[in-house]
Amino acid sequence: MEIIAEKTIHTRLKQVFEKQKERSLLLRSELLKERISRLKKLETWISLNRERIKKAVNADFRKPLLEVDTSEIYPVLTEIRHTLKHLEEWARPKKIDATLSYIGTYSEIRYEPKGVCLIIAPWNFPFNLCIGPLVSCIAAGNSAIIKPSEMTPSTAQLLKEMMAEIFEEDIVTVMEGGVDVSQALLEFPFDHIFFTGSPAVGKVVMKAASNNLTSITLELGGKSPTIIDASANLRDAAKRIAFGKFFNNGQTCIAPDYILIEESVKQKFIDYLKKEIQLLFGEGHVIDENSPHYARIVNNKHFHRVNDLLKDAVEKGAKPEILGTINDGTNFIAPVILSNVSANAKILEEEIFGPVLPVLTFKNKEEVIRFINNRPKPLALYIFSQKRAFREYILQNTSAGGVCINECVLQFTHPNLPFGGVNNSGIGKSHGYYGFITFSNEKAILRQKNGWAAPYLLHPPYTERMKKIVDVLLKWF
Ligand code: NAD
Repeated sequence: MEIIAEKTIHTRLKQVFEKQKERSLLLRSELLKERISRLKKLETWISLNRERIKKAVNADFRKPLLEVDTSEIYPVLTEIRHTLKHLEEWARPKKIDATLSYIGTYSEIRYEPKGVCLIIAPWNFPFNLCIGPLVSCIAAGNSAIIKPSEMTPSTAQLLKEMMAEIFEEDIVTVMEGGVDVSQALLEFPFDHIFFTGSPAVGKVVMKAASNNLTSITLELGGKSPTIIDASANLRDAAKRIAFGKFFNNGQTCIAPDYILIEESVKQKFIDYLKKEIQLLFGEGHVIDENSPHYARIVNNKHFHRVNDLLKDAVEKGAKPEILGTINDGTNFIAPVILSNVSANAKILEEEIFGPVLPVLTFKNKEEVIRFINNRPKPLALYIFSQKRAFREYILQNTSAGGVCINECVLQFTHPNLPFGGVNNSGIGKSHGYYGFITFSNEKAILRQKNGWAAPYLLHPPYTERMKKIVDVLLKWF
């Protein structure tokens, strides 16, 4: 039975892949206005179907309806609008100046579509992280197969309907399914794979891509540190961190994973943080299970993963500074702040990806960079400090995909900033212009202008005169 199912998946994928391959050759020579028209269709569909999107995402993990608007729909609409505004300029061939040794030639870069692209998405922003990359993919003139996460089936189903309503199958199509479908897709010789998910699965994707030497973008995760020194505005920091950490129930790739705070201000900061959490998610009261402002953990498997991390930390001596309801039946964990976390607690090893925030302390700045540099390079790093010298010290002595200073998570939505990780937290960049480049082949073109070009001076025969020219070249150019 299983073999038959596998065969059916493969046959179906092959059929779609080949259709897209054929169409992608036609997309190469299309006018830019066709891409613009596709992006506009996407924008219109989203605007007209806002309620459908909100309902689908909310059904998956009770994400508050307004949070679907702000973190799934709005970022995607701004990505589309920003792209529409700049696409002509991005896609225009760029004239490249000839250096002295290239006199007699004309050069330019043309941005050609890569071809058929695969977008594999995670569950934590199930709409945003499928459509965001798709915008850049379409803008660059490609076709796409999207594989949403099986953990958010309601959104995956909506995405399938959405793409069928907007696009022909040979331009964009959605393949629902789990690991089996993902792995079957990875066998095809795509022209680009854009993967968002965990570093562990990122390695699987990279290995599979190497079989076809397919280019990849890996948007991964990890432990994003948040550093607070004694000069920081603690109330302000608490406000921003309470939001950045606990919205989406901590299931955000760039959420602060742990706090490193100067010992002298730890308790004051924790007190502010407790207040801010309750103001945001409990409207000033204890956050109860019916809070409409607070998302849920996506499923019971992840509930247990987070709860086990919490239990392990407490067993090893961590002190819960706040700890509310924990309900296995509804995948509910109210925000948790932990202090005195033991160095061997598992919560300090793996990405938490849930509503638990360890607060660690430091005495000097050298300790901070040692702690961060002993771990894989993070996707995001946050610094709260009023001291420029401290901020610069951290910036210069650590590596991260992106940094926010006296702010939290805002780097994701800035349309003019590249978004992505470094090594373990990702390879390649997305959003706006950087997303367009990711899905384009920057084709270098050199044309000889009028019969003579400087490089001819280096052709044989290798005479004395040429030796002099080479001497000058090596010395000056
Ligand atoms: P995941 O890696 O488990 O799954 C992501 C996708 O890969 C899903 O579509 C899944 O079906 C597929 N997949 C899972 N196992 C696979 C396998 N063995 N072979 C092929 N495909 C497989 O990630 P997740 O749990 O959905 O999402 C959480 C992770 O994603 C976190 O680490 C988080 O930090 C990261 N993330 C990163 C970003 C970013 O932009 N950098 C954004 C969101 C989430």
